[in-house]
Amino acid sequence: VPELPEVETLRRSLRPHLLGARILSASLRRRDVLTTPGDPRGGFTRSRSAPRPRPRPVLPAHLLQGATISALERRGKQLAILADDGRALVVRLGMSGQVLLAEDPRRATRGLDHVHAVWRLAPRPDHGRPPATDRCLLFRDPRRFGGLAFLPSREALDDHWSALGPDALTITADLLGRRLAGRDTPIKAALLNQAILAGVGNIYADESLFEAGLHPLRRAADLDQAEVNRLAAAIRSVLRAALAAGGSTLRDYRDADGLAGTAQHAHRVYGRTGRPCPRCGLPLASRVIAQRTTTFCTTCQPLRGS
Ligand code: ZN
Repeated sequence: VPELPEVETLRRSLRPHLLGARILSASLRRRDVLTTPGDPRGGFTRSRSAPRPRPRPVLPAHLLQGATISALERRGKQLAILADDGRALVVRLGMSGQVLLAEDPRRATRGLDHVHAVWRLAPRPDHGRPPATDRCLLFRDPRRFGGLAFLPSREALDDHWSALGPDALTITADLLGRRLAGRDTPIKAALLNQAILAGVGNIYADESLFEAGLHPLRRAADLDQAEVNRLAAAIRSVLRAALAAGGSTLRDYRDADGLAGTAQHAHRVYGRTGRPCPRCGLPLASRVIAQRTTTFCTTCQPLRGS
């Protein structure tokens, strides 16, 4: 599951290839993958209870056709492709989303299923030797928890992102303390809440809480200053270590091999229920918190505050 380090790795690997690239054409293969201003909040796929709104037609402009890519930005787990005319396209990878770069559009999509959007890119003008064929960018998402959102302006992007908390990669103890103040919820649930802190998912929440020695069921509002300090430092160091490891998959993205390889991080607790705690050697425990399996050490992460 892509979390902040995986999305940041993707951003960094795409950046040299996409900056300055002009989008010659773009096509969408599933309407419900894209939301545009005026679409129901949350998109079409989740509006199960209400009568399904009739999707309005998508214009090629909604996929940035004709624009030159001027920036790639990230907030939490969301990636934004910004065009020089102010338009922006936000990519959410969800559970299984991938953004792939390939040299040959026809060859790239052959035998590849669940490709929902394709962009054909012109060679960059400053590119020394233009590639023999156009390059293309693909969005595929087998499980479709991800999606694309078109925003017509920088202001609209900022507004879209105002629903997210501060980015976890640079979270300070001061800011984290303010985000957690008054939250009557387990700290594990607070870390997963993207409106409180953006970028941490199940893997890095468990890893950060272990590093900080905090029980995942501690009430967020009850953490004292020293604990908040430890947690902020743990979040930053866990994410940075994962980012450093994720950097090694750069070539996979270029080769359009997708996200393979990023899951090989040396997790200390995540997915290791019953195995020895790397600190004290006792078996790691697990329980479901905020609908997610949570792994922790009952000795090194006591439920009582320190
Ligand atoms: Zn332990």
